[in-house]
Amino acid sequence: MPDDFDVIIVGAGMAGCAAAIRLAQGGARTLLLERGAEAGAKNLSGGILWGHDLDGILPRWWEEMPVERHIVRKRFGVLTPERAASFVFSDPAWTKPPYVAHAVLRARTDAWLAKKAEEAGATVVTSVPVDRLNWEGTKVHGVVQGGETMTAPVTLLCDGANSRLSLGTPIRPNPRLPADATELGIKEVYRLPRETLEERFQLSPHEGHAEEWIAGIYPPGVMAGGFLYTNEDTISLGLILNIGSLFGKGVYSHDLMEQFKLHPAISARLDGAELVEYGAKLISSGWASRPSAWHGEGWMVAGDAAGFVFSNGLVIQGMNYAVRTGLAAAEAALASTASKDPSAAQLAEYDRRLESSGVVADFRDFEGLDRVKWNPRFYSAYPRMATAVLAGFLADPSESSGTLLHRLRDVQKEVGVSLRGLVGDGIDLVRNV
Ligand SMILES: Cc1cc2nc3c(=O)[nH]c(=O)nc-3n(C[C@H](O)[C@H](O)[C@H](O)COP(=O)(O)OP(=O)(O)OC[C@H]3O[C@@H](n4cnc5c(N)ncnc54)[C@H](O)[C@@H]3O)c2cc1C
Repeated sequence: MPDDFDVIIVGAGMAGCAAAIRLAQGGARTLLLERGAEAGAKNLSGGILWGHDLDGILPRWWEEMPVERHIVRKRFGVLTPERAASFVFSDPAWTKPPYVAHAVLRARTDAWLAKKAEEAGATVVTSVPVDRLNWEGTKVHGVVQGGETMTAPVTLLCDGANSRLSLGTPIRPNPRLPADATELGIKEVYRLPRETLEERFQLSPHEGHAEEWIAGIYPPGVMAGGFLYTNEDTISLGLILNIGSLFGKGVYSHDLMEQFKLHPAISARLDGAELVEYGAKLISSGWASRPSAWHGEGWMVAGDAAGFVFSNGLVIQGMNYAVRTGLAAAEAALASTASKDPSAAQLAEYDRRLESSGVVADFRDFEGLDRVKWNPRFYSAYPRMATAVLAGFLADPSESSGTLLHRLRDVQKEVGVSLRGLVGDGIDLVRNV
């Protein structure tokens, strides 16, 4: 019996939509299945969309896509319970097209991308929670939903971080995500009149501001990073929490979010703003969260489902990798459709494209950072040390270097970090970053 489609994609997030657009543009009979009532309805990002991975399929996409603001500056910093220290990076190139990054709200962008996939000729069906992949021995031959099987020689899994369709299968034999590579993202959206927002963040129309903080405001051992991004007339505020670091501490994610919002460096930004949305989602990031393979007989896996998201307390990038890996998989699927060969050997083209597009190199590089990024001292002791030294120095810049050193030693004792630990962490950081 002939197959229903050439390619079936599960999940209309950034990865699935980008792949569907490319496949339909390439003439493949493409089915994109999404469990949400609309593409984007179940998706959550901070979210800054970095880079230009969409250019190949949608030239000058930022002019038509419902993006919020183009980012013109980024603030990085550390918070402690009573202090904040940060620096701001800006670059004139960020203010001009094609821009380097855009603030986005996924409910809008993903719905738009899914529409583009439809316009290109893909069949997009929402409100369809796929139950499982249709395994025929070691081969995947489409998907099963509500007792019905839909077949295609190639199935592309883009079902996000908590990829239920791959967990406990040959793609990810472990039925659970690895605890050391799983984070919890929490986000709230606050409405603020456009003019107030632009005045408060010193922005011109359509310009956006991004800030990311090491949130050293929690009990020692809790590891979290906070973000604040400006949209057209809302602010996206959130936390990325290392889940393992919460265990046994008697802390709850919603309380941590409240604490973050109440910090003076953050609360002033929210003055007069109204909470309009909130959500939470798992993030499965880095090399340690990769599946057993990125392709096999009749299947490929892209985006978050393949662990292609980089996150630490200060930075989170996954949408750009979702698009890039979705497109790489689409190219491999097009080659497989043309040659009528969905074998693993043919789909190995996907791995070659992951290599040539720099994705694999990036994630190998991040592996070093993955090893050091969840060091609890970076999230409490060091922010406290740095801000205490700065507080003394800025209050009295004429202080001698000897006094400064004494102050550093006092703070070091106060936060309980030995000199050996300090030097060891420094070496570790230099070696791995
Ligand atoms: C709080 C937070 C902040 C973030 N901030 C940023 C940021 O600022 N910048 C950035 O680049 N990245 C950010 N990320 C990461 C980014 O959101 C992800 O990397 C990106 O969404 C991955 O896209 P994806 O298409 O692979 O997966 P997703 O966007 O998760 O899409 C998966 C899709 O699959 C669908 N699906 C799942 N299971 C099924 C099923 N069984 N049947 C049918 N459909 C299914 C889902 O409904 C969803 O639409 C953030 C993440 C979080 C949680």
